[in-house]
Amino acid sequence: DSGGGPELTKEGGPRENSAGDAPLVVVEHINKYFGDLHVLKDISLTVNRGEVVVIIGPSGGGKSTLCRSINRLEPIDNGVIKVDGAELPKEGRELARLRADVGMVFQSFNLFAHKTILENVTLGPIKVRKVAKPEAEKHAMELLDRVGIASQAQKYPAQLSGGQQQRAAIARSLAMKPKVMLFDEPTSALDPEMVNEVLDVMTGLAREGMTMIVVTHEMGFARRAAQKVVFMADGQIVEENTPDEFFTNARTDRAKDFLSKIL
Ligand code: ADP
Ligand code: MG
Repeated sequence: DSGGGPELTKEGGPRENSAGDAPLVVVEHINKYFGDLHVLKDISLTVNRGEVVVIIGPSGGGKSTLCRSINRLEPIDNGVIKVDGAELPKEGRELARLRADVGMVFQSFNLFAHKTILENVTLGPIKVRKVAKPEAEKHAMELLDRVGIASQAQKYPAQLSGGQQQRAAIARSLAMKPKVMLFDEPTSALDPEMVNEVLDVMTGLAREGMTMIVVTHEMGFARRAAQKVVFMADGQIVEENTPDEFFTNARTDRAKDFLSKIL
């Protein structure tokens, strides 16, 4: 057993667990400052199990900081963040294990350049989840197959296209058997022809029931996969709605103005 993480179904989606319908991610009244700059202003957000939430909004609005806070890559100044009922500790061994419950995929792929794709995917499970190497490699190959790059397993990141590298980064996150996946503009550094291969993998994950928080301006993805769109600007959640309502019927001038610029 790999210990710690949730059971995954054969398809890799999370299995129903004992916690039932309690929200998986709860963010309550969090505030975050960078010096004098108030970057997250009393943010509250709930993400249910299996739900896909898209966060959208102008640059500098605090979207990345919110994602990084949920994963404790950024400390918050006050408020509460719980994942599956547990508040993440500020530091220590528990943090590494609990952080592994929250997968994160960034705009830049963040793969280890001097390790093969397979090694990139097995590293976390072996080090943090204490999985035996043969088992970690078997699971990694299944995940690489699932994201369509099993044939690239022995290559180094620089030998792959951007889209393939981002799919490898997704496989690497999934290998930790996270309870929730955070994606921070996962396609914005990609050449246009590679955007869909990454969005397709994400759409598949959503269909299989993965809980996801996705910062993206890809409206097609939001309409296809998301249950909720959160519009964030100036450190605040300005509007929260279904994708259909948000994209056709935004309530606030701020959101309307933003949409008029990206649509
Ligand atoms: P978004 O992802 O929506 O573009 P960010 O969360 O990256 O927004 O940034 C929110 C605000 O916080 C911006 O004004 C940005 O300049 C500032 N900021 C982000 N990271 C840091 C940091 N490490 N130090 C100081 N200011 C930061
Ligand atoms: Mg950002």
